[in-house]
Amino acid sequence: MTDDSEAMSVDEEPTSKAKPKATKKRKAEDDDQRPAKKQKRREDTDPWKLKSPAVRRDWTQMKAPPLEMFHFARKVVDEYTYLDGKIHSMVTNITAERHWVLSGTPPIHDFGALKTISAFLNLHLGVDDDGEGQSLQVKKRKREQTAVEKFHSFREVHSLEWHAHRHELGQGFLDRFVRQNIAEIDEIPSTTEIKSVNLPAAERAIYLELEHHLRALDMTVKRGKKSESDREKRVAQALGESGTAEEALLKRCSHFDLDTSDKENAMKACEVIVEERKKQLDNCKAELLKKLGEALKMEQKIGKVEGESLFREYVRVTRNEGVGDKDATEQAQELLNEAQIPANLKGVTNKQVDGKNKGKGKDEGLSNSKKEQIWEHREQTHEIRRITKELVGRVRSLRYFTAVRDLQRQREVPPVVSCPSCGRDEVPIEEVAVLSSCGHMGCLKCVMECADKEECVYAASGACRAAARVLNVVKGDTLGVDDEARDGRGKHYGLKLEQVIHLIKKTIPKEERVLIFVQFPDLMKKVAEALSANGIEFLEIKGSASQKSKNLEKFQSDSKERALLLNVMDESASGANLTSASHAIFLSPLLAPSQEIYDACETQAVGRLRRFGQTRLVHIWRFLSTNTIDEEIYEQRTKPKRV
Ligand SMILES: [Zn+2]
Ligand SMILES: [Zn+2]
Repeated sequence: MTDDSEAMSVDEEPTSKAKPKATKKRKAEDDDQRPAKKQKRREDTDPWKLKSPAVRRDWTQMKAPPLEMFHFARKVVDEYTYLDGKIHSMVTNITAERHWVLSGTPPIHDFGALKTISAFLNLHLGVDDDGEGQSLQVKKRKREQTAVEKFHSFREVHSLEWHAHRHELGQGFLDRFVRQNIAEIDEIPSTTEIKSVNLPAAERAIYLELEHHLRALDMTVKRGKKSESDREKRVAQALGESGTAEEALLKRCSHFDLDTSDKENAMKACEVIVEERKKQLDNCKAELLKKLGEALKMEQKIGKVEGESLFREYVRVTRNEGVGDKDATEQAQELLNEAQIPANLKGVTNKQVDGKNKGKGKDEGLSNSKKEQIWEHREQTHEIRRITKELVGRVRSLRYFTAVRDLQRQREVPPVVSCPSCGRDEVPIEEVAVLSSCGHMGCLKCVMECADKEECVYAASGACRAAARVLNVVKGDTLGVDDEARDGRGKHYGLKLEQVIHLIKKTIPKEERVLIFVQFPDLMKKVAEALSANGIEFLEIKGSASQKSKNLEKFQSDSKERALLLNVMDESASGANLTSASHAIFLSPLLAPSQEIYDACETQAVGRLRRFGQTRLVHIWRFLSTNTIDEEIYEQRTKPKRV
């Protein structure tokens, strides 16, 4: 092996980031191959056959020699930003005369980011400063700090001059070592088209229900860890395979398919959801009852305390004022009775006290164990409040879905709806409206009027304090209609996917090739299923690394399959050249933890086809379901940036 690039000047700029797929190009210098020095342990077995006569004669006969044995003429690291952990240290430790790192989206916004480049060049730019870097990097750095380092960074606050000097140093580094190519991508024309998908009523109903449902459970929910309480288990169930509420919502507005059912369409699925929600409501009530019992026991153990405890406040409010929803209030009060919670604890004053002392009691003179019990009691009450909030959400969900189900059966059994606002009985079906936020129904005119004021049509009567928006108003006669037309036409996958399929089959010319970007593996599965069912041949980037690259190559070399399905976050193929395609379809906006990651992934994705070698006009299609999290995320990420 000889190195013919030896003649290249070190200062020459990288010609193109379109490098061959191999992440590293290693050339061995032929004069540096001597058997390793002192050998020990596993190496004693000479796994590389260094001592065999054949290798002694000709070093290329070695079996899988470790890379560290070589000193390379040139080391090129493509997509260096993805290296991490062991691989990072392995790669940085390989010695070479010249070091190159390549990236389409190198972070250079601060000193910490520059240090990630300089690490590959064996340059030490300077010490870490805790004030610098993105939160993610800072966190990682802090994890790796020793206690002494932590203390040190605490003690040492750097001066403005120090930072100014560092800035100069960083700029010097950039000037000297970093080169950027920008021209090529701008020369390749592209158009972006946003395809707004107006979800049909039944799909919208299901989407809205999940949104309210998750909101009731607290939108910030994440999948719990090991010690899952019953409540956490229910949250996990609501999330399905998703890690967060946003993820679950993004999936729900991209395809129609419920994990809990194999029902053919949204209409039939409502039936299933009603049953499921009933069960979940029962679980929730059982848990609340149990917690109430425990809190009561604790209260009796604690005995008399001064002022109104948090638990007492909860009981009083639930009994007198309710929980903001008439049905839910009745159910909560029933549970209070069932748990036999007296209006007054014997010997405990239940008189209201002014805010200052509320729930605190006087701590002086209390033993430690008593204080602990009081603390525990408060914690129990917090949990009770959370479950009560969930109960309200579940009552509303169930009411809403029961209404949707009944409205969908309108052809068989027309539902009887009366309007609480104008008092009309038997509102004709064309004029019925239901609120997705709480499931209450009335006539469209009254429901809209109230939604304008952000309240439920039952607000005036005091039966419902749910906040309503005009977006939450679902017209009764639209439910069930869109599914009617689809009946008997086999399984459908939701309007968005159907439009994607229509785009590929009817709009995009047959000879043009398409990349379909999807973010989540389970969603990819659904998309794959929909493509197959609609007779669209496609390749997929999944499985082992070799399988992935095989499919990438196959696609790029004009495979008969004209579509390629890939995960937008998949780093393995991030540098791959896919210029044989001229269309990129984004099924949904990218859910990313930060703007930088969003931008980087977008650039990567589009960069696969909008790059040197592209001969056609590049079309970018973005599918967004209107009035869903799709639009929310897209607007947030694409709003003009501050300079
Ligand atoms: Zn009315
Ligand atoms: Zn209501």
